[in-house]
Amino acid sequence: MTDEDIQGLLRGIPAMEKVLNDERASRYLKYLDREGLKELCSSILNDMRVEILSGKRKQFKDEDLFSLLDDRVESMSAPSLRSVVNGTGVVVHTNLGRSCLSPEAVKAVSEVAGRYNTLEYDLEAGERGQRNSHVEWLLCKLTGAEAAVVVNNNAGAVLLCLAALSAGRSAVVSRGELVEIGGSFRIPDIMTFSGTRLVEVGTTNRTHLRDYERAVGEDTAIVMKVHPSNFRVVGFHKEVSREDLAALAEDKGVIFMEDLGSGILVDPGKLGLSGEPTVGDCIDAGVDLVTFSGDKLLGGPQIGAVVGKKKLVDSIRTYPLLRALRCDKMTLAALEATLRLYLRGNWNEIPTLAMLSLDGDAIKKRCLSLMEALDPVLEGAHMEVVAVDDAVGGGAFPATAVPGFALSVSLPDLSSGTIQERLRSCDEPAVVGARDGRILIHGRTLMEGDLDRLVRAFTSILEEESR
Ligand SMILES: *Cc1c(COP(=O)(O)O)cnc(C)c1O
Repeated sequence: MTDEDIQGLLRGIPAMEKVLNDERASRYLKYLDREGLKELCSSILNDMRVEILSGKRKQFKDEDLFSLLDDRVESMSAPSLRSVVNGTGVVVHTNLGRSCLSPEAVKAVSEVAGRYNTLEYDLEAGERGQRNSHVEWLLCKLTGAEAAVVVNNNAGAVLLCLAALSAGRSAVVSRGELVEIGGSFRIPDIMTFSGTRLVEVGTTNRTHLRDYERAVGEDTAIVMKVHPSNFRVVGFHKEVSREDLAALAEDKGVIFMEDLGSGILVDPGKLGLSGEPTVGDCIDAGVDLVTFSGDKLLGGPQIGAVVGKKKLVDSIRTYPLLRALRCDKMTLAALEATLRLYLRGNWNEIPTLAMLSLDGDAIKKRCLSLMEALDPVLEGAHMEVVAVDDAVGGGAFPATAVPGFALSVSLPDLSSGTIQERLRSCDEPAVVGARDGRILIHGRTLMEGDLDRLVRAFTSILEEESR
């Protein structure tokens, strides 16, 4: 293009006022105020000028401008945090929001979210109350602990315990337990943040009681056990039992704390899992303070719980850092409702636990129903129900493959990667697995209404394809 052509194109770009007054732009005043719309138009017009000057844009039509505006407004007015269909078979999927709340918990949240409530108010006394009081007794009842406090998440709970109880002193941890949990939670770093000196004992694969005995001294405030949530050491391996560590800590007059990570409240055997203790087991074994997450195997909202000896929990309760980590009313409402389900023995109404305790036949049936529902939509597709490995997720039971079923789908002319991508970009997005060139929709993690969502998603994909 000659300079003249370029100048011609530039002159053809309408003035901002003209764009703003065009009916095709002004209808967006529903989504944006005039200032916002002006900013958006100005940025689009600028982009176009740059493209013309660089020779990338060889023509200019008003329609181009308005279609760009259309895209930008659409992406701005759609929510970013959206619900998705989880077809991955990973139950506690950290990237997909970990645990889904039970209908009871959702109801409890909506009950307090838009109205004044008793977050820190004691109705009986007519005066200020404790925000922790709504859940403390429930946590104590369900774990056998004397006292409990909840904060924003488990990373916060560990940090708070260390800062309140061992700042300026040291904590003894096995080298086999200096873990990193996804997304930058690392035990040595948390120690540093809290002002605690880390004393490492033992080796990566084997730590003995005598290693701890030698390391605990004048300076020691805490003996800490950390759950190796997301990995397993196999082979020549030894760790010291909770009972032995509890006896040692008592003998030496130091605190025995455990970062349990997932914090399951029911016997994992009821979910067909084994090898991890419940919070109550740890308390029974003599751990002074246990910390755990609320949105992993507990199946509730994102929180971190500290449960254990009253004297210790009381000093944490009054430690100023707690103020920076406290939970919101919606979180506490969800947690209280979730814990009440345990209290009533109705833990099967908690989605995370219900999904994990699903038996193979039920999952298979779900996949078959999905296949039937998709059959009229997916002409020429190959579909079959296949055995797959699901996963607990959330850094719990990492070595346990949970047997499940999935609907395997392949479509003529579309690779599995393309189908996955299209499912993710639907109005009701779905995240699914793939194997050997076929997508896998794991039945275990599908929720009510997801069959219909998937049918709509596939319908829109095929419509797009036939266009
Ligand atoms: C998951 C986990 C954490 C972090 O918990 P959040 O609730 O995500 O902050 C800390 N420690 C262990 C052992 C964990 O498994």
